Amino acid sequence: MTDLGTRAARPVLSAGDIRDVAVIGSGPAGLTAAVYLARADLHPLVIAGEPSSTSDQPGGQLMLTTEVENFPGFPEGVLGPDLMERFRVQAERFGAEIVTAKVSRVDLGSQPFGVWTDDPGHAEPDHRVRSVIIATGARALTLGVPGEAKLTGHGVSTCATCDGFFFRDQPIAVVGGGDSALEEATFLSRFASSVVVVHRRRQLRASKIMQGRAFADPKISFVYDAVVTEILGDDKLTGLRLVDIVTGEARELAVGGCFIAIGHAPNTDLFAGQLKMDGAGYIRTLDGSSTSVAGVFACGDVQDHVYRQAITAAGSGCMAALDVDRYLAAQESR
Ligand code: NAP
Repeated sequence: MTDLGTRAARPVLSAGDIRDVAVIGSGPAGLTAAVYLARADLHPLVIAGEPSSTSDQPGGQLMLTTEVENFPGFPEGVLGPDLMERFRVQAERFGAEIVTAKVSRVDLGSQPFGVWTDDPGHAEPDHRVRSVIIATGARALTLGVPGEAKLTGHGVSTCATCDGFFFRDQPIAVVGGGDSALEEATFLSRFASSVVVVHRRRQLRASKIMQGRAFADPKISFVYDAVVTEILGDDKLTGLRLVDIVTGEARELAVGGCFIAIGHAPNTDLFAGQLKMDGAGYIRTLDGSSTSVAGVFACGDVQDHVYRQAITAAGSGCMAALDVDRYLAAQESR
């Protein structure tokens, strides 16, 4: 198995030193990178983020999940926050330094790179680094209606692959009209007793092939021209309040699960104008985790809008750490 740890021992860092590497983000991608970097004696600084009500909090989207049953190595399942705690302990065990702070600015224009966690207006960065791993993830867009935040993880989810299994034989709603919504609906129909797709317009945005697949599924039905105005339930989802935008009529739809599939947004605002991104704002990577700036690497959902799984994010975090090690070794041998 490929591993790091082949370089000469590095001196212990003092404040103000130029570090070999900073990892921005502490989801599965960032912390896996940290485990590998720490074992390679690269003393990674992990800037974990700060608690907030959205999914860009320390630990990433798994902090908003309850049971995780598809992460290999946990045959009994594991709670999302517990899994992230294990990642964190493992990274710290090998010497990763994890700080609870949000990056406010980066300067990737020249070496060493500058990373600010305090006032972005300060001339001097808080950290100077030879390489950076960006693992800031993506956030699922949410509706922002009453009940949604409270019931997320208690019947409301943004990931069918993660949570669909828990809704066996129950009626489920999927909100959205794009490819994600129809893909989720088709996936969920394996488990659910029925799936209702709730879309705010009459025309679906999804591709014809996805529409054809969903229309052919006898368990899937559609409610068009409807918006969700409230998600109902005290400690567990019981239904949705819908309003017909044409007639103004309100009604309740009883469901045991609700999947919000209205798109994702990568957490890349910090890097705008400094790295190449695709049209949706995801960082472009090539040759593994390399970005358009030498010495800057990206892993996890911030550069992947296709797979979006904890295990694929972790795998790409490992790749980024290996890429950093090779990059630093090549710089040293110049
Ligand atoms: P998307 O294409 O942007 O679709 C988002 C859907 O959610 C749209 O139908 C939109 O309605 C609706 N929506 C947005 N905000 C809403 C709100 N506040 N309330 C209610 N509905 C709202 O996003 P996506 O489906 O996640 O797809 C993203 C990209 O990934 C697309 O390019 C897609 O083709 C691709 N993708 C591909 C596959 C595949 O090929 N297997 C699977 C998934 C995703 P409107 O239509 O009215 O705007």
